[in-house]
Amino acid sequence: MDYPEAVARLLQEAGAGLGDEVEVRAADGRVWKGLVMEHHAFSAPHVLTLKLSSGYNVGVAVEGASLRLARKVPARERAPKSTAARDGLPVVSILATGGTIASYVDYRTGAVHPVTSPEELASAVPELAHTASLRTRIVFSMFSEDLQPEHWQRIAREVKAEFDAGAHGVVVTHGTDTMQFTAAALSFFLHDLPGPVVLVGAQRSSDRPSSDASMNLHAAVAVAAGTRLGEVVVVMHGDTSDASCLIHRGTRVRKMHTSRRDAFQSLNALPLGRVDFEANRPVVRLTEPHRHAGKGPVRVDDAMNERVAMIQSYPGLWPDHIESVVLDGVVLVGTGLGHVAERTFPAMEKLQREGKFVVMASQCLSGRVNMNVYSTGRDLQRLGVIPAEDMLPEVAYVKAMWVLAHAKTRDEARRLFLTPMAGEMDERTDVEAFPRPEVAQ
Ligand code: GLU
Repeated sequence: MDYPEAVARLLQEAGAGLGDEVEVRAADGRVWKGLVMEHHAFSAPHVLTLKLSSGYNVGVAVEGASLRLARKVPARERAPKSTAARDGLPVVSILATGGTIASYVDYRTGAVHPVTSPEELASAVPELAHTASLRTRIVFSMFSEDLQPEHWQRIAREVKAEFDAGAHGVVVTHGTDTMQFTAAALSFFLHDLPGPVVLVGAQRSSDRPSSDASMNLHAAVAVAAGTRLGEVVVVMHGDTSDASCLIHRGTRVRKMHTSRRDAFQSLNALPLGRVDFEANRPVVRLTEPHRHAGKGPVRVDDAMNERVAMIQSYPGLWPDHIESVVLDGVVLVGTGLGHVAERTFPAMEKLQREGKFVVMASQCLSGRVNMNVYSTGRDLQRLGVIPAEDMLPEVAYVKAMWVLAHAKTRDEARRLFLTPMAGEMDERTDVEAFPRPEVAQ
């Protein structure tokens, strides 16, 4: 897309164009030095976007600004740089699966492309070359809302292949919408991990000034390269500024906001640690107990019974709806401590008679299910409903699918479901692990 008039004029007067290095003095006196980026349909018409040397983008209002051409950048220099392995740096494999995180802006066309090679990735986030020796592969390129359990299984096998080929850690770039499902699935599938598996995404695409893509990816690679974690984690922005990212356990994390960069939060558990950016360098700090990496080789145990449904309880829920949706099992996302309306009890009885696997999580998300407090909960337990303790509904859903593929009897399924496997449940829930939104003063 061409530049809007005001932006084009400022560039032309200085003889600068797309991809050139410029210095802009904004109306507020602040000076920004960076590469001129493409203007997008969704950028404000009076804003010039620059890519700073830190890898971040900044949008500068052109009104009242002056611009100086610092360096004309020849087209060949804009080509991606190679990520030639650096001696002594741990090997980190990046498996791209889609979403906005592993995409980059082509300075010539302005289009956002998925990264298709290590070279492209290196040029999108050049700082990575100081943190790890990278291997990059595209597993698939999909929006995460389109992913199915078979995709989780594919990712698990690709992760194994990378560890078998000697990776120290594996980063999976992923759309944010269903990352919590994939994180839970990988947590149940992957055993004897010899290193960290880090899922990472971005809330804002890399062509936007406020993008979290490069910082999240850098933090994820730092965790994969610099720790001996033996579990699946999610690394995402920890605050609305660019100060740090948080390391969440894969079975305790959830997307809690549609657009904020710190949308991902650990629920019912504290994050395992954080990645602080000090002088633009990631410093990884693990603060909570975690599983340590083993010797490997990784074992993938990804059998799933996909005939499990998830039903939200709400005033007005029809009993027939429950009956029509349930195949072999269901996760009821109940109200409060774990309830559904009494008028659905006949449907529950039918499920029990038919030997269906029925578990109860809570739509409160934080806190644990307790079905001993009210008569509704006690009645439901008599009808065979299994409390999901302090598991998140999505985690209970993935675990139910895994359990049903591994247990021969309903009793065994119940026993397996109530056995902690990947940090997804605890006997006691840490009441401190409750997100407190910032309150405006
Ligand atoms: N719905 C897309 C996805 O989850 C959004 C893009 C993103 O979050 O990366 O893949």
